[in-house]
Amino acid sequence: MRLSKDALANIWFPFTYHGDLEENPPIVVDRGSGVYLYDKSGRGYIDAIGSWWVSILGHNHPEITAAVKEQLDKVEHVLMAGCISEPTVETARLLVHMMPRGLTRVFFSDNGSTAVEVALKIALQYWALRGEQRTEFVGLSGSYHGDTLGAMAVGMIPQYHTLFHERFKGFSFSLSPYCYRCPLGLDKQTCEAQCVESLETLLSEHGDRVAGCIFEPMVQGAAGMRVYPAKVLKRIFAACRTHSVLTVADEVAMGLGRTGTLFACEHSGESPDIMCVAKGLTGGYMPMSATVVREEIYAEFCGAFPSDRIFHHGHSYTGNPLASAAAQATLRILLRDRIPQSLGRLAQHFRRELEKFRELECVGDVRSIGMVGAIELVANRGSKEPFPARQRVAFRIARRALDLGLIIRPLGDVLYFMPAYVITEDAIDNMFHLARLAIGQTLDELHTSA
Ligand SMILES: *Cc1c(COP(=O)(O)O)cnc(C)c1O
Repeated sequence: MRLSKDALANIWFPFTYHGDLEENPPIVVDRGSGVYLYDKSGRGYIDAIGSWWVSILGHNHPEITAAVKEQLDKVEHVLMAGCISEPTVETARLLVHMMPRGLTRVFFSDNGSTAVEVALKIALQYWALRGEQRTEFVGLSGSYHGDTLGAMAVGMIPQYHTLFHERFKGFSFSLSPYCYRCPLGLDKQTCEAQCVESLETLLSEHGDRVAGCIFEPMVQGAAGMRVYPAKVLKRIFAACRTHSVLTVADEVAMGLGRTGTLFACEHSGESPDIMCVAKGLTGGYMPMSATVVREEIYAEFCGAFPSDRIFHHGHSYTGNPLASAAAQATLRILLRDRIPQSLGRLAQHFRRELEKFRELECVGDVRSIGMVGAIELVANRGSKEPFPARQRVAFRIARRALDLGLIIRPLGDVLYFMPAYVITEDAIDNMFHLARLAIGQTLDELHTSA
């Protein structure tokens, strides 16, 4: 079932051309189960992207649903100042237990963007409290850290950020480790090395003024699932250490088992100073995020009245008990079911089947790690020439996929798959089958109309 335009007269959709709505009204989702969503008429869709990466254990998971219902009968909210609910305490304990070594203090907020804002503020105030003039940040081109102003300042995806970057000072960016399309036209290895060297150069020029370096470990998600090697990540850590720059790992998308380790940083064997977690933290049930820091950082903020050793930050819903109940249940399931180790076979199947997209003439690159897979569409495989933007190839494929019962949402001309971990091998096969159908039908249609 689709909604009419009139019914939507008061709604403003995120990341949506409203000019598309008349021809592509949204589906009204009525219920969900596992990787499936159902509309009012009962029609099922495979949710191939975990509803924007939050649904890591599937929709309407019996245990998470039960945990939220149980909490709902007790209390819906308490202010987290002078009060706290038990699920919030337990969520912090579980998170620290799961995190790489050294990360011990959890600051809760509502979403990935605010988790990043909190990380940036902590980094700035940390250096101020230590009496050091470190007020700048460095990041990687191709990064996405959220849509609030601070998070945008450290992000670098031109169509999202350029307009706003004019307002910001004190942020600089290395090259992106996106070596399928190296901006300098280098081969993969040299390109990866160049990315790190550009970061090292930035830091050697003004590292003593830099408070922190923020990055998405292993995969630049929103830029198009740009997977990069652990050795690049290792060198990012090393460069920051050389210049005493705080490392801020934004694990909002890739944390909690997505890349085959509990946290993506683990691929490098390194542990950051500050880590941001959100999206899958509550299994997609409630908005909640966490910024987790090392004890030494927290210690700088540990003061008594009237010193300035206090963190003036908090949100109305910080530590919300319903969200905490969902997070606690989610983390317990991840631990009990030994995720991600137990996903090994499933992830292998996922990767093997994804690789078959290379057979298609329109697929230029196939990227995957753990339970993330992406294919980049090109008009010409040899020259990597993209499809003309006006053709909106990926957009049309996604629209066709929806008609076939598959929910995907491409990033530019990158089609990606990020299903909940409860997906079966059969459902993976079906997901890729529907994606291939949608690609084939869309390209046929373009050829006929050309
Ligand atoms: C989605 C995302 C964010 C922002 O999270 P929101 O909950 O949408 O504010 C930040 N960082 C990364 C890496 C993300 O993928």
